[in-house]
Amino acid sequence: MKLLVIGSGGREHALVWKLAQSPHATRIWAAPGNAGIAGERLVHNHEPVGCVPIGAENLAGLLAFAKEERPDLTVVGPDNPLALGIVDQFQQQGLRIWGPNRQAAQFEASKVFAQQFMERHGIPAPRAGMFMDARAASRFAAELGGRCAVKADGLALGKGVIISRDMAQADAAIDDILVQRAFGAAGSQLVIQELLEGMEVSLHALCDGTSARLFPTSQDHKRALDGDAGPNTGGMGTYSPTPFLTDTHLAMAYRDIIQPWLRGCAAEGIDFRGLLYPGVMLTKDGPRVLEFNARFGDPETQVYLPRLENDLLELLDASVDGTLSRQQLRWSNLAVVCVVMASGGYPGEYTRGKTISGLEAASRMPDTKVFHAGTALTDGRVVTNGGRVLGVTAWGRDLAAARGAAYAAVDRIQFEGAQFRHDIASKALRVS
Ligand code: AMP
Repeated sequence: MKLLVIGSGGREHALVWKLAQSPHATRIWAAPGNAGIAGERLVHNHEPVGCVPIGAENLAGLLAFAKEERPDLTVVGPDNPLALGIVDQFQQQGLRIWGPNRQAAQFEASKVFAQQFMERHGIPAPRAGMFMDARAASRFAAELGGRCAVKADGLALGKGVIISRDMAQADAAIDDILVQRAFGAAGSQLVIQELLEGMEVSLHALCDGTSARLFPTSQDHKRALDGDAGPNTGGMGTYSPTPFLTDTHLAMAYRDIIQPWLRGCAAEGIDFRGLLYPGVMLTKDGPRVLEFNARFGDPETQVYLPRLENDLLELLDASVDGTLSRQQLRWSNLAVVCVVMASGGYPGEYTRGKTISGLEAASRMPDTKVFHAGTALTDGRVVTNGGRVLGVTAWGRDLAAARGAAYAAVDRIQFEGAQFRHDIASKALRVS
């Protein structure tokens, strides 16, 4: 099978790496890909993966490429092309593509839609209000004592959520989003949720329109600095499994979140074929869904795929064809840890083009895979080309072993200004 993978981050490198292991894969292109993706080869025929310089949001360019090369399956990594309706456009041209269509992608593309859906179908969610008017929004925030999450409705590069702990912060956030339009049209409406306390975990469920298969547990580290300090980021590191969510909890999450969600989709005629990734807060009153994403997590994918024993291509095929109920997901007992190395200044301003050294030494280490995120090739050198640069991933018989191996590999890699968290999986190690 010929495959086209859309995207250029660590998630897409992990997807390509796993798909390249499938005996069914005969050719893989990535659009636009990155330096790490360009270094992958298909296990079956040793063909190199081809990177084509078409951006993930250039739907016309992607469609033209797919019509020319006729991939048997296109796999969409990031949220933006899904929200723009890439799946609908490919399907209209008779091209097979994996990911939710535009209607189904609304779970991520509109926080108002997601919150109202949860309320309609009894999915446990924070108490919330939806507003287009700043004064009404402020009154609701006051009812919550100013302790709330203020969220722009639309996609805002993962930055559209402002956590506030008093009324001054809440009013400033409402003004930023609704009046100043800090996130553009994404902020023409907003959702205000009560601020929940607890441990945050990521769920992943592969869906085929009528059924879903839940992945094991993982946990991200959203804040930039050690000890969960500093600003929110796209994610600074992950590990799987997490001791904070037992198999019993996972079965409860399936019953209380995934099942009502599937019933709701059926009732509303939403055909979700793709990956549903609810962000969940474990509160003292039980799990609450903070948000839905409609694609694989980044960097969750980097810790899930090394544990997955199935052929990923067969699973994505089943997700597209509606035959997932015939598939059992199989996961190894290994623990996996991913440490993100980022550019100095991320998630604020940073500079690109810094030479990265030590990649080969790190890649030679056992049970280790360095997934590239923001990297590019310049004159044969691998250089930084984004905020999150690498996802240094390692596995072992337990979290301590995996974590030790991941940080040993991080120690081999250098680039000017490199920053990373030193405490990925620390909380889990303290309890286990
Ligand atoms: P979201 O993109 O909606 O997941 O929000 C980004 C981050 O903000 C989440 O990962 C949480 O850490 C935090 N957050 C969002 N909503 C809430 C909430 N209702 N209570 C507490 N924290 C929240």
